[in-house]
Amino acid sequence: MPPVERSLLNALSIDVEDYFHVEAFAEQVSPDDWCNFPSRVEKNVGIILEILARNKLRATFFVLGWVAELLPHLARRIADAGHEIGCHGYAHRFIQRQTPRQFREDIRRARACLMDQTQQPIYCFRAPSFSIIKSTLWALDILAEEGFRIDSSIFPVKHDLYGIPDADRFPHWRDRIFEFPPATIRRGNSNFGVAGGGYLRLLPYGLTRWAIREINEKERQPAMVYFHPWELDPEQPRIAAPLRSRLRHYTNLSTMQKKIERLFRDFRFSTISEVCQKNPEFRELRR
Ligand SMILES: [Zn+2]
Repeated sequence: MPPVERSLLNALSIDVEDYFHVEAFAEQVSPDDWCNFPSRVEKNVGIILEILARNKLRATFFVLGWVAELLPHLARRIADAGHEIGCHGYAHRFIQRQTPRQFREDIRRARACLMDQTQQPIYCFRAPSFSIIKSTLWALDILAEEGFRIDSSIFPVKHDLYGIPDADRFPHWRDRIFEFPPATIRRGNSNFGVAGGGYLRLLPYGLTRWAIREINEKERQPAMVYFHPWELDPEQPRIAAPLRSRLRHYTNLSTMQKKIERLFRDFRFSTISEVCQKNPEFRELRR
């Protein structure tokens, strides 16, 4: 009997940062104070590595340069477990708050640190808070000049903090960078995030499963799923912030691990580079 056609391979990505780095708390927590918060990222990454090993899955970990300098063995530990290391910039600043020169310095410092620690080239990038938006598209040229090939920073949604609502929803070339946007569902004239971060954590799992099936089976495209180590950590210290930020950050932390395990049972995942290698457009035009 011919083998049953298996579902598409989706991309799995993890933004390796701590709970105090997030944009939701940027008003309350200054970068100068980051070193005063107890770091929980390594413990949480350990939990994720264990879940991935149990499910025999590989993923791309976008490591924040600040975290890599604090924990110099962490990126190596992730890479040694068979995963891909990507770069999440150094200081987790919105690109629109940086000059092109500052942005170049930020990513150069982070990428050099990660390459030194892992002794591997780093090709994938994700901007903090998906901050490649219409006014910061210049960042793509700098990424290419600094050695990156794949970016996953343009969220094709309308959102108060990020997004290019009319951007292409699926992997595509943007000049010298191959862009792989986070998964969205299109309804009417709008796109909606469905399978990453707060969307994954706050929406009922059945909706995320339906959305990825639509993307894989109807649109015949891979989905980009992402989450953060702190999203699996209900014990993390609480930061006094306005209600909206607290709701965004703390809701459903205790059910996230179960949700992710269901996702891993229901769909196939791998690193971003492996999913891109299966894309004929990526293979043909790779420079
Ligand atoms: Zn981040």
